[in-house]
Amino acid sequence: MAFALSDEHRAIRDAVREFGENEIKPVAEEYDREGTYPEEIRKEAAKYDFVAPGIPLEYDGAGMDKISSTVVTEELWRADPGIGSAVGSAGFGTNMIMEFGDEWMKEEWLPKIANGETASCSMISEPAHGSNVAGIETIAEKDDDGYVLNGNKMWITNGTVADVGVLMAKTSPDEGHRGITAFLVEMDTDGISTEKIENKLGIRASDLAEVVVDDVRVSEDNVIGEVDKGFYQLMEFFASGRTSVAAQAVGAAQGALDAAIDYAGEREQFGQKIKEFQAIEHKLAEMATRVEAARSLTYRAATEVEQNNQDVAAQFSSMAKLFASEIAVEVADEGIQVHGGSGYVTDYPAERYYRDARITKIYEGTSEIQKNIIADQLL
Ligand SMILES: Cc1cc2nc3c(=O)[nH]c(=O)nc-3n(C[C@H](O)[C@H](O)[C@H](O)COP(=O)(O)OP(=O)(O)OC[C@H]3O[C@@H](n4cnc5c(N)ncnc54)[C@H](O)[C@@H]3O)c2cc1C
Repeated sequence: MAFALSDEHRAIRDAVREFGENEIKPVAEEYDREGTYPEEIRKEAAKYDFVAPGIPLEYDGAGMDKISSTVVTEELWRADPGIGSAVGSAGFGTNMIMEFGDEWMKEEWLPKIANGETASCSMISEPAHGSNVAGIETIAEKDDDGYVLNGNKMWITNGTVADVGVLMAKTSPDEGHRGITAFLVEMDTDGISTEKIENKLGIRASDLAEVVVDDVRVSEDNVIGEVDKGFYQLMEFFASGRTSVAAQAVGAAQGALDAAIDYAGEREQFGQKIKEFQAIEHKLAEMATRVEAARSLTYRAATEVEQNNQDVAAQFSSMAKLFASEIAVEVADEGIQVHGGSGYVTDYPAERYYRDARITKIYEGTSEIQKNIIADQLL
């Protein structure tokens, strides 16, 4: 399948790139150093539809297709993965609301997220269950007034900044993946408490938290979709989510390459710019080739997701996520090498891209899990 960006995709790409150059890059080092969540930048980005770009027009979103949102994610991460993550994940979990939620959920929450007023979160992982989603232990017990939720959610992006979240809990605890239900939970509900996780390796401007769920009461109206069907509902978004992480990785890799090209054009050794050494030229050429290969695979996955070719999309999104995330870490590593000692300190962005890129091999299914999925389809 041939793939080319349309004029509209290119216009979106150029607009996000300009936003990244002007609003994100100049402050990236400071936000990383301080571990500050960039709420004002998120609000500003929302004015240009770069926050949750897939939210439909009727809910104040931009209704962008998957390829456009892939380009937005890539460019946000190219400018800076930490701030890019905070802006680009502001609508985390909204896919579930858009696809399976009741009208009241969409009307109440989607406009606020699209407008940058608040963020959402997706609460799946737990301390004892990450890769094995079917094993989650958070329980939703039914009584006459609705459900009472109890459990512990771990590694929740936007946990302390979101006003709303999609929480996965067991409604039929003995049924494994057949017993999971998705709930819409307002984060200020009695019994929800969050603790920010501060000691992250990378994407330090992005918010991450542990969420304790202690006798949290929600109404039956808060069920998203069908009781006991949450896992199957979640599976519908794996391809889209993994394509988004592949786009994050492509962005981080491109950012690391941009930084290496800039430095190679400035730094002189032995009376010449280091970019004139063939060893450095070859490094840059290899980095650029890998980034482009990862980008092509990612856009291909985005096209399959957009066309709703489910099995193909599942396979390509896993391949794109696996390949792009591995490439991102390797390219960022080479970026440090091009910088020499300057790559090892925070004076240049090279070390930041290296730290930030690393997360793309872990969340939305680790590299090992992606290999399992790809192999399952082959064998
Ligand atoms: C910064 C960050 C943000 C995150 N954001 C969110 C979020 O917003 N919401 C959310 O719900 N979660 C989130 N996560 C959690 C993330 O999805 C999990 O960390 C990830 O799925 C891995 O789970 P785990 O950490 O429990 O590792 P484990 O599942 O314990 O895995 C440990 C190791 O064992 C390997 N392994 C496990 N099972 C298999 C297998 N079957 N075959 C081969 N190897 C295997 C893994 O690949 C890995 O190498 C986030 C994590 C981080 C670090």
